[in-house]
Amino acid sequence: MEVRTRIAPSPTGFLHLGTARTALFNWLFARQHQGKFILRIEDTDKERSRPEFEKDIVEGLRWLGADWDEFHRQSERIEIYKKYLKKLLDSGQAYFSDVVHFKNPGRKVRFHDSIRGEIEFDTKELGDFIIAKSEEEVLYHFAVVVDDFEMKISHVIRGEDHISNTPRQILIQEALGFPRPQYAHLPLILGPDRTKLSKRHGAESVREYKEAGYLPEALVNFLSLLGWHPKDEKEIFSKEELIKEFSLERAQKGGAVFDIKKLEWLNGEYIREKSLEDLLELSRPYLGQTDDEKLKKILALEKTRLNKLSDLREAALYFFKEPEYSKELLSPPARAGWKGTEDYQLIKKHLKKITELLPDSDKIMSYAEKEGRGEVLWPLRVALSGRKNSPGPFEIMEVLGKEESIKRIKHALEVLD
Ligand code: GLU
Repeated sequence: MEVRTRIAPSPTGFLHLGTARTALFNWLFARQHQGKFILRIEDTDKERSRPEFEKDIVEGLRWLGADWDEFHRQSERIEIYKKYLKKLLDSGQAYFSDVVHFKNPGRKVRFHDSIRGEIEFDTKELGDFIIAKSEEEVLYHFAVVVDDFEMKISHVIRGEDHISNTPRQILIQEALGFPRPQYAHLPLILGPDRTKLSKRHGAESVREYKEAGYLPEALVNFLSLLGWHPKDEKEIFSKEELIKEFSLERAQKGGAVFDIKKLEWLNGEYIREKSLEDLLELSRPYLGQTDDEKLKKILALEKTRLNKLSDLREAALYFFKEPEYSKELLSPPARAGWKGTEDYQLIKKHLKKITELLPDSDKIMSYAEKEGRGEVLWPLRVALSGRKNSPGPFEIMEVLGKEESIKRIKHALEVLD
């Protein structure tokens, strides 16, 4: 039997991380089994569904690389639902009041979940439940069952919050004589405080992560580990490796904690893998227009300390704009007890000397060796960058050029006065 999975988002908000995670698991499973992955927009709720959310979902999934083999929209399938609704009405398994109720046989429903094992529900409590507002307007449970059948979905892999929906859907399935797909309910994504991930915990939508400069490869890698455990300790996975190694058997039951530090770390790893050319293209939205040669030099320097591309806005600022800093910062931290007038005189002496030696870095270096490396190079670096942490002064000067470097050192001399 062909593996066919689906992601069935309702376009009532931007692509949520949880939906992206579920989509990814479905996509991985389908690709692993040379099956099909289906995107189905569940827009039966007319009031809350919006085309801009559908667009965001489609673009987000595409950006993550979870490509689909089929696309469906529930609002275009009314005739199909009508046909099956009529079947239930004709056979007396559903009835019209002002709405359409499903006639619940009220029995125990048992199903096997690939992650959770056997699950049993007594559906007596549910009573007869509503499956359509009218012939034209079916509701979620009914539409899902019809679509999963019509689209020959073999595996329903979805969030744990849908477990309690499953018995209702099974009852409808059986009333229509449909086969049962294999179910797998993925654990919830939790914030660091172990409550369900929500706005309180920070960004929730894929677009926010994209805008902050997370790379899709990093997000895919990260999301794949939210609820799935690889065999060994390995944490960095390419898509191809994920397709090979992913398995529902190694999916966890308990909630998966979202650790932003881990995402940042992974993203940094992927950033460092990028060529300067690729990084340049990716960084443009964060850096604005400047000359590419300069940008590449900056990226080569800053690459090692970036966690996300938006960090560049801050990290690269001093290459474009003369930095502001306090006099105290010019004083080398290694020399506790400095900061007296004489000490500042000494720093001035060093900086003046450097302006004479520039651009000969060998000469500056031998001067620094003689006078004390930290005592010469620290104030030089601060004069250039205005920062406590930055790449080394020679690397910065290489980007700034002689003229701008001298200008900044002279500014430092003014700050010291
Ligand atoms: N439309 C449902 C949702 O967005 C998904 C239904 C399902 O996966 O069965 O939660």
